[in-house]
Amino acid sequence: MNTIDEKLHPILTTVLHRNAGEPEFHQAAREVLESLGRVITRHPEYSDDALLERICEPERQIIFRVPWIDDNNQVQINRGFRVQFNSALGPYKGGIRFHPSVNVGIIKFLGFEQTFKNALSGMPIGGGKGGSDFDPKGRSDREVMRFCQSFMTELHRHIGEYVDVPAGDIGVGAREIGYMFGMYKRLNNRFEAGVLTGKGLSYGGSRARKEATGFGTAYFVQSMLARQGTDFDGKRCVISGSGNVAIYAMEKILSFGGKIVACSDSGGYIVDDNGIDLDLVKQIKEVRRGRMSEYVKLRGDGCRFVKGGSIWDVPCEIALPCATQNELTGADAKTLVENGVIAVAEGANMPCTPEAVGMFRKAGVLFAPGKAANAGGVATSALEMQQNASRDSWSFQKTEERLAGIMHNIHEACDQTAEEYGAPGDYVLGANIAGFVRVADAMRALGVI
Ligand code: GLU
Repeated sequence: MNTIDEKLHPILTTVLHRNAGEPEFHQAAREVLESLGRVITRHPEYSDDALLERICEPERQIIFRVPWIDDNNQVQINRGFRVQFNSALGPYKGGIRFHPSVNVGIIKFLGFEQTFKNALSGMPIGGGKGGSDFDPKGRSDREVMRFCQSFMTELHRHIGEYVDVPAGDIGVGAREIGYMFGMYKRLNNRFEAGVLTGKGLSYGGSRARKEATGFGTAYFVQSMLARQGTDFDGKRCVISGSGNVAIYAMEKILSFGGKIVACSDSGGYIVDDNGIDLDLVKQIKEVRRGRMSEYVKLRGDGCRFVKGGSIWDVPCEIALPCATQNELTGADAKTLVENGVIAVAEGANMPCTPEAVGMFRKAGVLFAPGKAANAGGVATSALEMQQNASRDSWSFQKTEERLAGIMHNIHEACDQTAEEYGAPGDYVLGANIAGFVRVADAMRALGVI
């Protein structure tokens, strides 16, 4: 739908050239640059001093070897990454992903997205991301612990409460954060609570952090629907994934009166026309660390498991891709539109391909990009940092109220910015421009660094 302004072409060309073989990063950079033509036409000062080139170039990229010993006494080698993208607004902030698909291009795309998302959240945090191609699936607790300890043995020298504050992402939850925090504490001989977020409640974590990304996505959709004079009540919702984001998006949507009819994992999807039994999903995923295919046998009649296939074939009014990047294609978007979808929000980072996004926007479907819709997770991480800095611990209710307020503000910022730039209702444009302007203003103030 959008094309790149000709003044921005050379910047994209440099990104493509400098980051050869990194298609996800190209995709993320292109999407943001496509939104910025109107800004630099109105405010040419934003392209002074190579600001746009600088914003596309990470401040620092760290790649390291992670050796560890498995339960069979064999040495395993993985690769670790931390891309410290932009610290104009605060310490680098962003999660760590453990998944076999991880490479430097994926971490770079995530760090780039994180920079604008964090800016949009209004919290004082820069953008970064890290991870490893380690696959936690099928590994014992002890193997995961040894891996996390080895990973932190290198990472610890690059992070700190005023430097870079990692958290979780795919494959990294409370267990992994605990092992990494333990090793950081041992190596530095200091209890620096604010160095990691997503910590357990027993050693400095925040209430509502686990729920925050999913809850935040549901709040964002609630605001989009309210703007159109409607709500979740009785609407059929399909949510891909069954991790932290999907589970708590489902929980909040159920409380808003929505009906969840399908969710998934990498093995396939379940459809339950009676409405998904969320307690059962939690039992399978959070307690047993099992597979969604087990759902049908535990739940009984009225539901089915579809191995492989596309969850987006299930008719719905609201679709939330909460699994991983590029999981919802142009063909899926076509099916969703034909089936009457009215709103789509990205709970995951960049789950919709550019073709899919184009199709939703053309069809007039409400579309919330990840950097707005899933910002509740990192925003609550910033609240965790606040609690750690003041050696305080807030109630669930207080933390959730702050989260709801932040999501409301993000919605308003996207909406008003889209309006201001002549594209009312275009949340992609609104999110990209509002996030960019906040980072760019700080970068201009700090000089050429
Ligand atoms: N990984 C999450 C994200 O994509 C959270 C990051 C954080 O809390 O630092 O935003």
